[in-house]
Amino acid sequence: MMILTVEKTKQWMKEIHKRMETNKEQLTALDQAIGDGDHGINMARGFGEVVAKIDGTEYDSVADVLKSAAMTLTAKVGGASGPLYGTAFLKMATALQGQEVNQQNLKAATDQALEGIKMRGNAEFGEKTLYDVWYQVAEFLGSEKVEDWQEMLEVCQATIEDTRELKATKGRASYLNERSRGHVDPGSMSSFYIFEALATVIEM
Ligand code: ADP
Ligand code: MG
Ligand code: MG
Repeated sequence: MMILTVEKTKQWMKEIHKRMETNKEQLTALDQAIGDGDHGINMARGFGEVVAKIDGTEYDSVADVLKSAAMTLTAKVGGASGPLYGTAFLKMATALQGQEVNQQNLKAATDQALEGIKMRGNAEFGEKTLYDVWYQVAEFLGSEKVEDWQEMLEVCQATIEDTRELKATKGRASYLNERSRGHVDPGSMSSFYIFEALATVIEM
């Protein structure tokens, strides 16, 4: 079954943007605790740019929308998260090129995104980064529960909570070393909004 169309993918980006605006202060507060306090601003502005770009553009495929989003994020978001999310969406686009999107190739595309994040940020699971959430989503999409999007979001939420007690070993939070413990990773939170938005448009 086709689960994403060009229209739905555009909607996905809009739903992400909405959440980044609504939760801008939360993301900023999380980043103030263990980073430089700009994550909410980076995400709200970045996805605002994505929406502005895709709104005025005609696309032939889901892959083209994702590629456009990726290039915008990489170009417009300073900081670690822009290029990381840019790479993730670009890898998804490449994996989905010339295909209609179904459960199977969405799983494959998420695996590729994960590889891209890893390549770009050199992170592994458990280092208190957004990689942790993408990893769990990729795992979930490969499991038998794959169509239960609400359960996927619960898995994400548990993963976010798990980042709290981890020590950061990548990104700015790693400068704090042991003092990074006790705070949720901001990028894990923004990744949750990305997948919450995806679940919303797929279920629409
Ligand atoms: P910056 O840290 O440059 O200000 P942001 O605040 O926008 O950028 O994003 C911070 C988030 O980026 C972190 O919470 C973390 O999830 C993610 N991140 C940072 N470095 C890495 C990395 N090397 N690999 C994966 N994710 C990372
Ligand atoms: Mg920051
Ligand atoms: Mg910054």
